[in-house]
Amino acid sequence: RVDALLSRLGYCTRSTARAFASRHEIVVDGTRVRGVDAKARASTLRVDGEALDHPDGVLVAMHKPRGTVCSHDEREGANVYELLPERWRRRKPSIETIGRLDKDTSGLLLLTDDGALNHALTSPKKDVGKWYRVRTDGPIPRACVEVFASGELTLSGEEKSCKPAMCEITGEREARLRLTEGKFHQVKRMFAFFDGLTVVELHRESFGGLKLEDVAPNPGDFVVLPTDYDFT
Ligand code: URA
Repeated sequence: RVDALLSRLGYCTRSTARAFASRHEIVVDGTRVRGVDAKARASTLRVDGEALDHPDGVLVAMHKPRGTVCSHDEREGANVYELLPERWRRRKPSIETIGRLDKDTSGLLLLTDDGALNHALTSPKKDVGKWYRVRTDGPIPRACVEVFASGELTLSGEEKSCKPAMCEITGEREARLRLTEGKFHQVKRMFAFFDGLTVVELHRESFGGLKLEDVAPNPGDFVVLPTDYDFT
């Protein structure tokens, strides 16, 4: 039904659909409809002459700014969902982040309203590599390259060791790290393993073959990707 479609995509609520239709031109299969109980396929519905806004789901690549949280709880401060168009925030199912980045982490964050896709992209079995740029508060020991690559580093409180991770030391206090999984605070905890090194800056540069600088170079930028985007 028209009202179900419009409310699912955030144009209005089910109960305000009638009022919405009186203020907008709703066309189904080329014919103007006045009520909202007509049956319609999403692909044939037009609102004020425009096709529906991503009716088959969205996959978003966002440049998460440092200082925003991956949470819907307004008490936690500015969140990443506020950077999306308002209508998208009313979609059902809701758009959720694919994994999380910490409040003080910036960089490539994916979001989707497709639960199966979300699950598939967070699974460590997928083996999708994510590169992080790291700055620490002290010198990074050479040994971390071998330890991270070994697949034998077990973080406190974890049963399973971290999967082998590639680390490139790019400066005295700077490195790049490639993870294929996402344990809680994983990058920070991996560096803390070495004399309690603290990560003072963390930025995610890429997710599989998708590089942030190519799609959303500035904090707050985002783009919509095809839901079947191949990250491998
Ligand atoms: N690892 C962390 O410690 N924090 C992040 O935000 C992402 C990975």
